[in-house]
Amino acid sequence: MEQLEEKEIIPYDVIVVGAGAAGMMAAGTAARNGKRVLLIEKMEKSGRKVRITGKGRCNVTNARPAEEFASQVRINAEFFAPAFAEFNNRAAIRFFERAGVKLEIERGERVFPKSGKAWDIATALLEYCFENGVKIIYNTRVTGIMTLGSKVFGVRYINKRGFERKEECPNVIVATGGLSYPATGSTGDGYAFASDLGHSVEPVRPSLTPLVSSHPQIKYLDGLLLRNVRATLWIDDEPVREEFGELGFSQRGIEGAVALRMSRDAVDALIDQRRVKLVVDLKPALTEEVLRERIAREIADMEPTEFFTELLRKLVPKPLVLTLVHEMDVHGKNYVSKITEEQIGRLIKTLKGFTFPLTDYAPFEYAVVTAGGVCCDEVNPYTMESLKVRGLYFAGEVLDLDANTGGYNLQIAFSTGRLAGMLKK
Ligand SMILES: Cc1cc2nc3c(=O)[nH]c(=O)nc-3n(C[C@H](O)[C@H](O)[C@H](O)COP(=O)(O)OP(=O)(O)OC[C@H]3O[C@@H](n4cnc5c(N)ncnc54)[C@H](O)[C@@H]3O)c2cc1C
Repeated sequence: MEQLEEKEIIPYDVIVVGAGAAGMMAAGTAARNGKRVLLIEKMEKSGRKVRITGKGRCNVTNARPAEEFASQVRINAEFFAPAFAEFNNRAAIRFFERAGVKLEIERGERVFPKSGKAWDIATALLEYCFENGVKIIYNTRVTGIMTLGSKVFGVRYINKRGFERKEECPNVIVATGGLSYPATGSTGDGYAFASDLGHSVEPVRPSLTPLVSSHPQIKYLDGLLLRNVRATLWIDDEPVREEFGELGFSQRGIEGAVALRMSRDAVDALIDQRRVKLVVDLKPALTEEVLRERIAREIADMEPTEFFTELLRKLVPKPLVLTLVHEMDVHGKNYVSKITEEQIGRLIKTLKGFTFPLTDYAPFEYAVVTAGGVCCDEVNPYTMESLKVRGLYFAGEVLDLDANTGGYNLQIAFSTGRLAGMLKK
């Protein structure tokens, strides 16, 4: 509890902390419902993260049916259900189309602006705030939430001149995001606010993040993108997850949709110091038998003095050739005519199960989302209000909610932001 200086008026009904996807949706919604709203953003502009989503194209939501949507939310999907029912993916699509952003649906039901510009989504959210009369202040960092007993009383903040100030207000919506890509402004401040006010915070860790392998050849794969591969994540010699699609290799680690979707389980297992590996089937469409026939056909079409590496070149992308040679421990300059049945058997096994031991994961700087956060058991799923402090609301990634890639994380921000902005008591 804090003693504050006497003030003549309480100008705002609600203060929203953070002008990201969830905060702008919450602020615009509250203002549209007649509330006087102050939106405080610590960066110099709003929606910095939204502007870089989907590689600058913004995968704004996913058009899958509601039942399938829930299965993509990796934790607390039941908690999320009422927010999604209030403002689901169809509602999000309508919202942006009404705001003049034309959308299109791509592979995997992923929804993008037709313009290909994430900027359009950020602008639409900001417009929503402006047209409903939200007051926005930038370069202003909220440093704490004030309470009187178990009720919100306002916020403390540092203004752009560096002075500490206070603003009284009966409702505060914390939409400060998680910890990933901290350069966009999300530096985890909301977790500190929540725990200062008695909330539990589930341990935070990077998710949808590149995976680091100790494979001795991995550095030679930098820049390689494999399409249409099937990968299986193994934890302590048990297969736990299988994914099909793209796998990419960069200085950060193994990435691409397949690795990112695996990363949530992989990161948790690595934190628990379990043995983790990624086994990649480079030829998922071919059974071992069909692959054997294909290899036999390739060899039959080659000159007997052509090298083993030239056979490999017919089967895999170039950057993989030398890695495969090392993996199989066969001399690359062996003539194809001299390749033994045993070596062909080994080649098939390697193509169907190339194994990358995983030893680490990329930090928050490269993680698309944060797993963990404000414990959902202590938040009312029908209002997003804290069950501990009256007038305190949470929205977006600050909550212990995260989902797969595919537009689901922004939808989480929109749905929870919308519900919080309704300020239902
Ligand atoms: C590179 C990248 C690509 C992504 N692509 C997609 C995608 O295509 N589709 C998808 O669904 N999801 C995507 N995501 C995830 C998605 O962007 C986030 O889940 C979503 O933006 C979270 O919204 P939020 O409003 O909760 O948090 P944020 O968008 O992080 O917003 C939080 C805001 O709060 C402000 N803030 C923080 N602390 C304070 C404070 N103390 N005082 C004042 N302001 C504060 C921050 O500056 C920030 O503006 C991507 C993420 C990244 C990093």
